[in-house]
Order: sequence, then structure tokens, then C-alpha cells
Amino acid sequence: MIRYTVLGSGSSGNSYIIMQEHASLIFDAGFSLSDMKRRASQAAIPFESIQAMFITHMHPDHCRGAGVFSRKTALPVYVHESLVQERRPELESLRISTESLRTFPLGAPVQVGPFAVTAFATSHDSPHSVGYRIAVDGKIFLLLTDTGKVTDEMRELAKQADVLFLEANYERNMLQTGPYPLYLKRRIAGEWGHLSNDDAIGLLHDCKAESDRHRRVYFCHLSKTNNDPSVLAKTCGARLDWDGEITICANNHQYTGEFA
Ligand SMILES: [Zn+2]
Ligand SMILES: [Zn+2]
Repeated sequence: MIRYTVLGSGSSGNSYIIMQEHASLIFDAGFSLSDMKRRASQAAIPFESIQAMFITHMHPDHCRGAGVFSRKTALPVYVHESLVQERRPELESLRISTESLRTFPLGAPVQVGPFAVTAFATSHDSPHSVGYRIAVDGKIFLLLTDTGKVTDEMRELAKQADVLFLEANYERNMLQTGPYPLYLKRRIAGEWGHLSNDDAIGLLHDCKAESDRHRRVYFCHLSKTNNDPSVLAKTCGARLDWDGEITICANNHQYTGEFA
């Protein structure tokens, strides 16, 4: 049995757990340790099942809990190898314990228990940002958020995935007419920013093709200011041609699924 949960996504914090039998991995630490524990137990995932943490990038909504997690649990925390090699201040400020700190290269799977985790590059304004492909027990998960553009590699990975955690950060009109200052609007919509609803739907259409898998998509990382679940739902209803399941993750809400 595989159970997985979006502990929360969006500006207030991002974190995901995937569990197979009695082993699990946690991806990103956008919440405090106590909050991550509380949300894990709401999904009936024992926190003690966690074998390691993987971090996508250094923005606080993805890693603010990583240091305390490492010091209290002594579990491995994996980050992109270049962050360590370059002794990035962003990484050092997290105070991940040296005993816990592990690294991965891009493109080569890291095996932790039953999970094979492969990182791929994203296009984001935080150094060495990545997304993850996670293979476990015949299922493939893809964690693809915080990227300003979709690459061919991402499309290929998305084609293989059974479960996609896919960023739909902003709705173009809401961002353009919204309250953010111009420089921030440009950053978000730029190639080092985030994916829009249109980008996410475009990616799904691109990767619909040959697959007969009944795929599950979780639209994640919706902006509280520049997006709205009901707006995204309407756009999906009008434009998205997709035969799998769709879940729109409202900001800071938790969503759990499983494969029997
Ligand atoms: Zn980010
Ligand atoms: Zn983010």
C-alpha cells in the first residue's frame, strides 16, 4: 500500500510525504517540525516512518523546518551537491546538522529504502533548484513546482508519472491586475519564476499522449493573491482535456491519497 499526502502547499509552506508500507520520505520542510508532525498524523502517516528528507530549493516556504528536523530526528537531509560545494549562505543559514546533511547529483537516482529519488533541474530564482521523480513499488510520482518554464525533460518525466504534484501558481489576469509591485509580477511570470494555470494545463496536454495510465494530478502551490481554486477549476472545466483525476490544492490545505 502506498499513501501520500500534500501536507500543505502555497506561500504558507510546502511539504509532501510518500509512504510505502512502513517507510516514508518527506519532501520539503515548509512548516515547523511540530506542524509537519501534526499534519502527517492527520494523514495517518506515522512520523517515525520517515527515513529521509529531500529539499527542492532554498526558499523559506520549502525549507524553514529543515534545520530543526535534522537536529531533532538525526535523519538524512538531502540537498543538491552544488549547494554544499559552493558553501551557499542560503544553505548554511538553515543550520542542518552536519551529520544529517547528504547530497545528490542531478539525474542519478538515490535509493532510500524502497524509494528511488531522481532530481532534475528547475528554472527558479534560487540556486540549484530541483524537482523530483520518485519511483516506489511500481508507481512514479513527480514533484514539479517552483519553475518558470517547462522543459522537454519535464514533459518526458510527466508522461511517465502516475501522480503529478504540479505547480499552478498564478492566473495570468489576476497577477497582471493584482496588487503586487511590477518587479514582483515580472519575477513571478518570468522564466525563473513560477508556472501559471495556463502553463500547467499546457504541460498536461503535452504529456497526455500514449499513456494508458489513469493519472492523478494535484495542482499545487497556488498563490493566495494571484490565483483562486474556483478560477482554476473553471479553467480546467473549460479547457483541460484529461482523463485522470484532478485535485486542486487550496493554499495551506492538506490532501491525501493512496494506492491499495
Ligand atoms: Zn521558490
Ligand atoms: Zn515555493
